Amino acid sequence: MKATVIDGKAVAAAVLDETRERVEALGARGKEATLATVLVGEDPASHTYVRSKRNRAAEVGIRSVHHELGADATQGRVAGLIGRLNEAPDVDGILLQLPLPPGLDDQAATMEIDPSKDVDGLHPANLGMIVLDRPVFAPCTPSGCMRLLDYYDIPVRGAEVVIVGRSFLVGRSLALLMMARGADATVTVAHSRTKGLAEAAKRADILVAAVGRPEMITSEYVRPGAVVIDVGINRTESGGLVGDVKFEDVAGVASAITPVPGGVGPMTVAMLMRNTALAAERRAQQA
Ligand code: NAP
Repeated sequence: MKATVIDGKAVAAAVLDETRERVEALGARGKEATLATVLVGEDPASHTYVRSKRNRAAEVGIRSVHHELGADATQGRVAGLIGRLNEAPDVDGILLQLPLPPGLDDQAATMEIDPSKDVDGLHPANLGMIVLDRPVFAPCTPSGCMRLLDYYDIPVRGAEVVIVGRSFLVGRSLALLMMARGADATVTVAHSRTKGLAEAAKRADILVAAVGRPEMITSEYVRPGAVVIDVGINRTESGGLVGDVKFEDVAGVASAITPVPGGVGPMTVAMLMRNTALAAERRAQQA
């Protein structure tokens, strides 16, 4: 069997097209959608991520306003900047690029963001809305995974889903979206203490890897015909990227698989733009 390769770039382009239309509809009513990006420190990967988010924003007509603080910024300075952006009437969404430099607390900083401007969906208020089955801003990577499955008509309802990884950023949040009413999957979340991981993973109709270990998931973990979503992004010694899934090996048994790069990655940025348009629409409604 040769698996269908799920084209994250194409699905992301569809999400960006939808978003552009929403932003244009706001523009026709005299409202501009604005994303404030906040970057702290000198981490090259974070700079690259923020640049690509600002480029995507420009492509869909979202204005982005960039703020940078040095690596020596205190928690209070980060909080002060976020506080000003919370109050700014022309800012719809705030993207705080994580991780922050060592010594700063990512979660404490995230909790400073006004939940109505939390377009990354990582504030506990927004995570809580998912727990309550009333999502507003869902985290971008998990909601990007859901959108990929939907686009490819891969049934989630009643499916056995196994997610390897329990971070709040990916695994845990995706589990909540998968088991929400309407999605209706049966979900197992595995982690580093899970016993018999390969046997558990083999039960999956949909197997999601969000581990951060290069090519850990081999065909030994995959039931023939399963759909495999690889969230992992791992840099190789030669500077390339590999996922958490051993692609060629698993593509031989899976029915569909996401590549790295070009799978989940582009979806994350697209869903951030979608959330920013949503935030702008909600603010426009309140005005
Ligand atoms: P994380 O916070 O480090 O979480 C990793 C999870 O994997 C943890 O729950 C950990 O278990 C589990 N784990 C580690 N080793 C394991 C093993 N041997 N067997 C089973 N489970 C194991 O990472 P993350 O933020 O969720 O990110 C995961 C991967 O996705 C990374 O490669 C990251 O770069 C990538 N990522 C990609 C995107 C994207 O846009 N595509 C976005 C975010 C993250 P414990 O909880 O027990 O430690």
